[in-house]
Amino acid sequence: DQGSDLVVVANRLPVDRKVAADGTATWKPSPGGLVSALEPVMQRNSGAWVGWTGQPGDAPEPFEARGIHLIPVELSKKDVEDFYEGMSNGALWPLYHDVIAQPQFHRHWWESYVRVNRRFAEKAAENSAENALVWVQDYQLQLVPQMLRALRPDLRIAFFNHIPFPPYEIFAQLPWRRQVLDGLLGADQLGFQRPADANNFLRACRRNGLATRRGLVHLPAEPRFGSPDHHPSREVRAAAFPISIDAEQVAALGQRPDIQERAREIRRELGDPKVVLLGVDRLDYTKGILHRLKAVEELFAEEVLSPPDAVLVQVATPSRDRVEEYEKMKRDVEVTVGRINGDYGQLGHPAVHYLHQSQDREELAALYLAADVMLVTPLRDGMNLVAKEYVATRHDEQGALVLSEFAGAAIELPQAFLINPHDIDGVKAAIVRAAGLSPREATRRMRAMRRRVFEFDVARWASTFLKVAASAAEPSTPGR
Ligand code: UDP
Repeated sequence: DQGSDLVVVANRLPVDRKVAADGTATWKPSPGGLVSALEPVMQRNSGAWVGWTGQPGDAPEPFEARGIHLIPVELSKKDVEDFYEGMSNGALWPLYHDVIAQPQFHRHWWESYVRVNRRFAEKAAENSAENALVWVQDYQLQLVPQMLRALRPDLRIAFFNHIPFPPYEIFAQLPWRRQVLDGLLGADQLGFQRPADANNFLRACRRNGLATRRGLVHLPAEPRFGSPDHHPSREVRAAAFPISIDAEQVAALGQRPDIQERAREIRRELGDPKVVLLGVDRLDYTKGILHRLKAVEELFAEEVLSPPDAVLVQVATPSRDRVEEYEKMKRDVEVTVGRINGDYGQLGHPAVHYLHQSQDREELAALYLAADVMLVTPLRDGMNLVAKEYVATRHDEQGALVLSEFAGAAIELPQAFLINPHDIDGVKAAIVRAAGLSPREATRRMRAMRRRVFEFDVARWASTFLKVAASAAEPSTPGR
């Protein structure tokens, strides 16, 4: 076996295990833009994907799915607690999202993070062909680029950070900040969602004594050993590549007659209200769900919007419920929804329809079609794909999007009603304007947003990134 020419390394494999009643397990492709974007390239390049199955203690032999070679990495129950729930979701996630929640820094979490990152790097090293391109994904695996380079100096290594990269004043809190920077700098090309994220990263490098200029970090070829004068410098590039969705695939759902019928049925089930407000999020403190509920509650209290003529549907998908902050957040949302319904609901007509359940893509598409106003109000979000999905689904060019300026998507969707979610009066004003939008103005805004989402879809994101990553690793020409 020669190994693969293109290797993706991600925390999760792009499949979920389904266990039948008789105990036999099969693998089902997990839905998602990243997989659908990479599938064609992976098939062309005999690609491999290194990742965890999602089951603690599970380590099946490598297997094939949809023309991709899947290479499982084992995580024990303890690894899941310390590397995944602990270091990744209890320390790095809140730190990188502007410390909305307090990050916890535990040394045994970090030790587990180092160990597990090494395991991913070793699997990638074993399965990569000579000079292969290895693309490492996201904040759980920031040490893999450096570890992989040490094992396989021939490889071209790229990294994409799907979440924000914080300002240095925040990043500096991380006790292992230098190790994380060194880990990332093992890559040839680094990708971030927004230019601001790439700049935050470059600034962190500068503050740690690493030479940078316009998107480049210069490292001695043998970092911190010998004299840089006698070695060619190695360049690491950092730039923004905003991720997107498979817009055609999402739009196709919105065109399906059965899903359009379901959208009409949803409005009937809600009691044929004049205004349907919709929120769709993982139940995460970064999503601004409580801020959104407060704005809606005040609009109900002031009778600017009056249930049952106006209702809110809030889908809050269960997420990370073993992490303490998430448990607390869930209780706060439940109390708030309960209070709003107690005050403004009627028998058989709740003011807020709250679903703490995961919805499949068909039901989500129907909800998007049924919604007059889509509320996307994160306090910080790397991109926010829900905003783009709403736009892609609305082939009728109707509906309005209220969008936080703290979501990466705001850069590409300036025709949305952009809000600061901390400014409750501003959020309320935007909801009122969005709910009262003329069909003509709705079309003008939606058409512009749709153009953007269809032109810069996830296939374009992946091909742009891979092209830049492949050229970044070419030896630098003298004098450039
Ligand atoms: N999603 C889903 N079912 C749900 C809620 C969300 O399939 O019940 C999907 C949604 O369509 C989107 C993704 O989950 O593709 C959420 O991505 P986003 O970037 O908005 O937020 P993240 O959860 O990655 O922070």
